[in-house]
Amino acid sequence: MYDIAIIGAGPAGASAGIFAAKAGKSTLLFDHGKSITAKAWVENHYGVKEIEGPELLKKGQQQAVDFGAELKDEEVTSIEEAGDHFVLQTENGSFEAKHVLFATGMSVKLAEEIGLKTKEGSEPRVAKVIETDENGRTDKKSIWAAGTVAGVSVHTIITAGHGASIAINIISELEGKRYVDHDILKK
Ligand SMILES: Cc1cc2nc3c(=O)[nH]c(=O)nc-3n(C[C@H](O)[C@H](O)[C@H](O)COP(=O)(O)OP(=O)(O)OC[C@H]3O[C@@H](n4cnc5c(N)ncnc54)[C@H](O)[C@@H]3O)c2cc1C
Repeated sequence: MYDIAIIGAGPAGASAGIFAAKAGKSTLLFDHGKSITAKAWVENHYGVKEIEGPELLKKGQQQAVDFGAELKDEEVTSIEEAGDHFVLQTENGSFEAKHVLFATGMSVKLAEEIGLKTKEGSEPRVAKVIETDENGRTDKKSIWAAGTVAGVSVHTIITAGHGASIAINIISELEGKRYVDHDILKK
């Protein structure tokens, strides 16, 4: 049983995976390789002078894996509620998790298939998003959303930041107190 299953390993999902795995939570990331970031040339990501989208994607995913997250290049095709957890299905198997985070970018397909509330997008070129509260909670308990699919501005620094922010909310819920992740410069 994983603590957190994250669907989508673009900037939002991988960033959430970095925080969750670094907090010692068993974290499973899924991605089926359709990130819009793969087409991007990025010059406005704070602290990174310039970077190709595919390289940013790879670095972010590797950072999450280096902290212990598992990454599966598979499409999640269904999610079943099973008491206090969820069973996620891919064509290669099924996986159990206590919390599910949608970071599926432009796609609300799976979200609508499992009956999550969605609404019209307000960002340019974003047709639909998952309805969430200010903490990233959807209308189903222990299912969350972050990044483009949660309606934030479609920029890597913002979707990555939002993924981290929602991950901190999930970690805080798992730990029963507000979580902080600060490392100190060793002189
Ligand atoms: C041409 C172009 C240029 C851009 N230039 C810039 C720029 O210069 N600066 C900037 O800040 N931003 C830029 N962006 C925007 C940037 O790419 C997005 O803002 C962004 O970061 C989206 O992040 P995300 O994680 O929300 O979604 P995505 O990066 O789209 O990731 C979503 C992931 O979810 C996966 N997924 C979806 N459903 C499933 C499923 N059922 N199972 C498994 N995986 C699933 C997809 O495969 C995908 O990899 C550009 C975008 C485009 C298209």
